Amino acid sequence: MDVTRFGVVGAGQMGRGIAQVAAASGYRVTLADASRELADKGRDTIAGQLAKLVDKGKLPPAERDAIVERIATASGPADFAEVDLAVEAATENVELKLKILAAYDAALPERAILATNTSSISITKLAAGTKRPDRVMGMHFMNPVPLMKLCELVRGVATSDATYAAVRAAAEKMGKTVIASADHPGFIVNRMLIPLLNEACFALQEGVGSAADIDQGAKLGLNHPMGPLELSDLIGLDTVLAIADVLHREIGDPKYRAPTMLRNLVAAGWLGKKSGRGFYRYDK
Ligand code: NAD
Repeated sequence: MDVTRFGVVGAGQMGRGIAQVAAASGYRVTLADASRELADKGRDTIAGQLAKLVDKGKLPPAERDAIVERIATASGPADFAEVDLAVEAATENVELKLKILAAYDAALPERAILATNTSSISITKLAAGTKRPDRVMGMHFMNPVPLMKLCELVRGVATSDATYAAVRAAAEKMGKTVIASADHPGFIVNRMLIPLLNEACFALQEGVGSAADIDQGAKLGLNHPMGPLELSDLIGLDTVLAIADVLHREIGDPKYRAPTMLRNLVAAGWLGKKSGRGFYRYDK
């Protein structure tokens, strides 16, 4: 199936990144969130990011204008009647995703593919809540989407070969290198990442080192480009906790349990960079 019109549901950090890269790759994009205002705010943020690239001389102004022009905002599922490939990138919560997928399943054309950017939730479970389980799959982009090369593809039990081929082609057109993961909790990347992020938080909680020393240890001692605590702040502590809880619940191994400190930070609304405070403080 040929994808010409892209849809993105959720205009948070991931949805904005996916919309930006899809538009920069030539797709027309419809961007939705819980309201038209939030979708408009998302498009404004994309325009702001692109303006910074223009200021740095990394993007011609005409190209910025063309990318922003290709992104239309939506007030909800009804605006997705022309979309060929919709990527759901809303908050990591299974009940919310099931609700969103059902609503967009009802509005999308018969031919359309419904992909999800979930970090951990069963693709088969999400697909089973729709009337098109053969046209549902995981399309897991990395953060920040414009910079990270990888897209992890996940087939549910019912995903068809044609769906996989179309989603793979779209990811490659967006400049991504794909890997294929089985439909297991956390897939490949978060299965490896979350135990590291949890362990760094346990080390902080137990007073093994300061946040700065733990991150410096990973950067200079393990050659990681970012420390695990600053990476957790970038991902969003609510998202890290949600993924850890899925891994712990679904796999049942205590090694995936989330630290109390992480739970407390999320309860306090200290979600990392996006809220201005997490393990570190950020200028808003
Ligand atoms: P975020 O908190 O930045 O954004 C979530 C967005 O979902 C918000 O804009 C929110 O308004 C929107 N939303 C909530 N309810 C909605 C509804 N009913 N309809 C439409 N939109 C709704 O979160 P994020 O970091 O962008 O994560 C989004 C998804 O991407 C999650 O599934 C997450 O696991 C996954 N993901 C995140 C990362 C990361 O590093 N943060 C990386 C890969 C995948």
